[in-house]
Parts: sequence; structure tokens; C-alpha cells
Amino acid sequence: MKNQTKMWLLIIISIFSSLIIFIAASFIMGDFGNKGYDIGDLKTISNEVLTTIDQQEKGISSILDAAHAEHPAVHFEWIQADGTAIYNTAGTPQNYDFQQLADHFLSIPYNLWTEGETISLVYKTHLQQQPYYLLMKLPSTAMQPGQVYFFLRTTKVLLTLLLPLIIAFMVPYLLAIWFFSRMNRRIHKLNHALTQVNLQKDIIVLQDTSKDEIGQLTQHYNSMVERIQSQVIEIEQFDNKRKQLLSNLSHDLRTPLTMILGYAETIRNGLYKDDRELQSSAKIILQRSRYMDKLLDQLLDITRQNTHALTLQLAPHNISEMLRKILADYLLFLDGQDYIVDVHIEDTDIMIHIDVALMERAIRNIIDNALRYGKEGHYLGIILKEQQNDVWITIKDKGPGIASAEQERIFERFYRVHQGRQGDGLGIGLSIVQEIVDLHQASIHVTSVPYEETLFQIRLPKKEDELN
Ligand code: ADP
Repeated sequence: MKNQTKMWLLIIISIFSSLIIFIAASFIMGDFGNKGYDIGDLKTISNEVLTTIDQQEKGISSILDAAHAEHPAVHFEWIQADGTAIYNTAGTPQNYDFQQLADHFLSIPYNLWTEGETISLVYKTHLQQQPYYLLMKLPSTAMQPGQVYFFLRTTKVLLTLLLPLIIAFMVPYLLAIWFFSRMNRRIHKLNHALTQVNLQKDIIVLQDTSKDEIGQLTQHYNSMVERIQSQVIEIEQFDNKRKQLLSNLSHDLRTPLTMILGYAETIRNGLYKDDRELQSSAKIILQRSRYMDKLLDQLLDITRQNTHALTLQLAPHNISEMLRKILADYLLFLDGQDYIVDVHIEDTDIMIHIDVALMERAIRNIIDNALRYGKEGHYLGIILKEQQNDVWITIKDKGPGIASAEQERIFERFYRVHQGRQGDGLGIGLSIVQEIVDLHQASIHVTSVPYEETLFQIRLPKKEDELN
């Protein structure tokens, strides 16, 4: 059942039940709290007494005494029309003059509402064509404390009485209808927006500033769809990058493979001129195979990066020693090549908390890049220095460098400055460097002036216990 229908049912049921409860409760409470005689009761008693007198079953005095015995709070007087008192259950009867009789008649019904007074009611009757009065007196405390009478001469007056009552009764119901309808509209909007959530379409952001539960639900909905949208965008971007990576990879693997196959075929068929040509063919095969090996290594890195993130194992390490060891490997590799290697590592060893394996991997990545992308500069610089609370590692080359617009982007996963250029990697080396640097709560900066200096600088903050 819809909320709207439920709401109307609820209101109709409440109107009827409140009416029934009001009537029933006022009867029950009246029985408990409104004890005593009311005008109707006294009228019935007077009728009974007058009927008995009329039937002349006993003498008048015994009839009135019997009635008084039955209703001890009420005293009965029997009076002739000229005011002569015939019998009084309260004692000696006293005659009334015209003034006193008229006062009795006039005081009804005002004396009914007075407190602490004697209430007297007069009933007229005829006995053998003679007029008589039955006077009934009782203390006001014997009367019911409350009695409600409606005297309607015409039904038109109902409108005057009932309309204000209906309007007064309607106010809470109208307020309830307004409240429920507003709440219903808000739920309906939320419901509609939820059914519209579609990954391909624009999301619907709802405006609901209320602090109540529906307002909170709407805020949760808004942040949920915003999260979904940004995740969808991320997934789309990742998917595009993945497609790009696959096409780059197939291209990057095919080119060296074609060369390897060509040179291997030449060697197998003995088509080389001399030993020098054989050597240079073998060198090219080796170079291309190394390059393919690097691509496959990077592919493995990507899978590793996806499955489990890098974990940091910090320990105090001699970073000067680590850099010297790395440098020794590269010097061996660069031996005999037209390269200037400029090293500034202070003699006093620098100790710092690092994950040595990860930091070595990051530095090797940057040096590999300097050698690959900056080889035209024939220069490699490595500087390690300690400055106040930081340790700085700088790797420098004098190649064509990186345009300032690209400098931010090179740390993105799969980003390559020259897409599809032969000899480049898969664009993940620097993204791994960035991850390692972040894990160490360190930072990395690039500055580049083409063919003058391209610097990659890692700033490693020292821990408190490492500070002098
Ligand atoms: P890859 O794994 O393909 O080498 P990286 O993430 O290591 O990718 O580097 C991203 C891009 O940054 C490279 O495509 C390259 O163009 C550029 N780059 C990195 N280092 C240098 C450098 N020293 N000189 C010029 N360009 C560089």
C-alpha cells in the first residue's frame, strides 16, 4: 500500500477513533466523577411522586415521606395554589405568599448553578381539578457538579456551533496531512533519483538541507552517487590506460623482436661480412633482448602493483654506502662509453631509516631513465647531501629534459612523454618511484633545462632520533 493511501486511512481512522474514545471516555469518567442528582433524575422522581399521589394509593404525607426515605437528600413539600402548605417532609409546613411562590419559580434554573445553597424545584399538578405544587428542595452538594445542556430551537444553529468545532478539530489533521505529504514528496524524489542511478548517465544530485532522517539519507545518497561517479570515471580512465598499455606493449615488443629475428636469421645463414659485423649483430640482439626483458619486468611490476601494494620495512641504513654500491654497478656498465660521471657523496656516512630494497629500486629507476632518456647529454651526476633535517639525493643528466607541462604527469601510471617511441618503457617506472617516496613520507621534485641539467631530487626527512 502506498504511503499516501496509508496516510489517508490513518487520518480517517484517527477521526473516528478519537470521536468514539471521546464519547466513551466522557461517559465512563462522568460515572466516576459526576455523581449526584441531575435535572432529569429530579424530574423522574417528581413524576413518580405525582403519579402515586394522582392514583391516591396512600395519603399524601406518607407518599412524600416514602419518597424522602428513598432520597434522604431531597425534601418534599405539598402546597396549594394559594400558597397554603399542606405537608413538608422537613417539619412543620409554612404557608407561602404570592411573592415567595413567584421567587421560587423565578429562581429556577439559576439556583441550580449556585454553590452552597439550597436548590428548589417546583412541579405543578392538578388533583380533583384543583391546582397544587410539589416543591422539592435539596442542598446543591447533592447535585451533579457538571451538567451540559443544548437547547436548539432550529437546526440552523448547528452550523454556528459545529463549524468552529470542526475547524478547530481539522487544524491538527491538516497539519498532519501537510507534514506527511511533504515527507512523502521527499521520499518519492529520493526513490526516483535512486531508480535513475545509471553508470552511463549523469547523476541526479538532490537538494535537501533538512537535518532530519530523510535529509541525512539524501546527503548519504548524494555522497554515494558522487563516489560512484568518480569511481566510474577512474575505472574508465584506468580502462583507457590499460588499452593503451596493451597496444604500446604489443608495438614495443614487436619492433625489437623483428630486429632480433632479422639479425638472428642473418647469423644463422652466415650472411655477415666479417667478425665485426657478427659482433655488432650479436650486440644488437643482446640490446633488444635486454629491452624486451625490461618491458617484461615492468609488466610484472604492474601485476604486482595491482595485486598487493608495496609494504614498507623501515630500518636504519647507511645511505651513502647504498649509493656507492649502486654507482659501482653503473660505472661497470658505462665503462668504455663516452660518459662523464659526476659523483658527490660526502665521506662521512649518512644513516637514515629507509626500506633499503625499495629505496634502491627507486634510485635505480631514476638513474636508468637518466641514462635512457638523457643519453644525448653523455652525463650522469649523483649527489648525496645532508641539510638540516633532511637528506637529499639528486640524480642529474644533461639530455633533452622534460617540458614543464609534462613534469607533473610523468609520475602518473602508464604516462609516457613520447607515446610509442621506440626504446621507451611502459610508463610505470616513475609511478613506482612516487609510490616508494610517498611510503617514506618523502618528496620528489623535477627541474629541467634542456641539455643543461635535468634534476630528480628526493628529499628524505630524518626521524626525530636521527636528528643531531
Ligand atoms: P618508463 O617506465 O616508460 O621509462 P617512467 O615512468 O620511468 O616510464 O617515465 C615516464 C616518462 O618520463 C618517460 O616516458 C620519459 O619520457 C620521461 N622521462 C623520465 N625521466 C626522464 C629524463 N631523465 N629525461 C627525459 N625524460 C624523462
